Amino acid sequence: MAMASLLSWYHRVARDLPWRRTRDPYAIWVSETMLQQTRVDTVTPYYERFLRELPTLQSLAEAPEERVLGLWSGLGYYRRARMLHAAARRVVREHGGRLPEEVQQLRGLEGVGAYTAGAVSSIAFGRREALVDGNVVRVLARLFALDDEVESSAGKARVWRLAERLVKDAPGEPGDWNQALMELGATVCTPRDPRCSGCPVSAPCLARARGIAGELPRTSARRAPVTVRRIALVLMSASRVVLARRRPGALFGGLWEPPGADGGARELTRLARRLELDPRSLEPVGEVRHVLTHRRLHVAVARGSLGRRRRWEVPSAEYDAIEAVALGDLAELAQARLSRKLLALAGVL
Ligand code: SF4
Repeated sequence: MAMASLLSWYHRVARDLPWRRTRDPYAIWVSETMLQQTRVDTVTPYYERFLRELPTLQSLAEAPEERVLGLWSGLGYYRRARMLHAAARRVVREHGGRLPEEVQQLRGLEGVGAYTAGAVSSIAFGRREALVDGNVVRVLARLFALDDEVESSAGKARVWRLAERLVKDAPGEPGDWNQALMELGATVCTPRDPRCSGCPVSAPCLARARGIAGELPRTSARRAPVTVRRIALVLMSASRVVLARRRPGALFGGLWEPPGADGGARELTRLARRLELDPRSLEPVGEVRHVLTHRRLHVAVARGSLGRRRRWEVPSAEYDAIEAVALGDLAELAQARLSRKLLALAGVL
């Protein structure tokens, strides 16, 4: 394959991204973790702030979880932050504070899968290790006109074998080669309308030659997200708003949000009573829609006035704390993006 042309194309057009300006393994690991399931332009400000606040692996290992979640607040997929934090502690404990170079050792860390291990090993340490993400799957499926369903275990194994073979023989730095494949998928060989006429590997591409680029990669039909109806209650005064903390282990575990529940009007009444409020005093303010990987949340928001109370004993399956938080402290608190949307609709933000 015309490998050199892909690499020289990459060196010409590569986007100038902050994590491409460093060889610090810790910084590269943080960026690769943030970039899982999240777009580059969303990640950039979070990455910069995270590295400013926690510039070394040691500083991450020593930080309290609340602080790590606070820096991740709004980026989504919070399990990544918890795993990164746990893995940093393990690196300090078991590897003398130095991130291991080898894929097998990297994979022993919390949250480090095959992709992240390959990325850190090749990009930060220059090892000839492959990586496969959605972009690489698409590019390789097209270049080699793979007929396999790429989500099947046989299809995945085939793509990995191809990626491993290619990186072994690739010219230049293996990390650059891996990034070139991903960059091609992100900017040229896109899911819809691949720009084959401007592609540096159009000559050897079998899908282009056969006119089937748009049909690849082959996938099984995706599961449609389920719609879940919820209610949320925003109780506020001129200086405070009531927030509840999700129990660890649950969706959004450890993050704060206006208290809520799955369901409709009946659950709102129940929640109001638990907070010792008259349900008739609540004012509906509209609905927030929020899409997660497998769920589409429709959250009906109601607003109410906060009295003098600052803390509630509210044992529930979802929350382990409910407090009236000073508005000035909101920015520091770990919240999911959904929580900010709810507060904005109620007029708090
Ligand atoms: Fe993708 Fe087209 Fe390039 Fe083939 S020629 S790798 S289908 S952009």
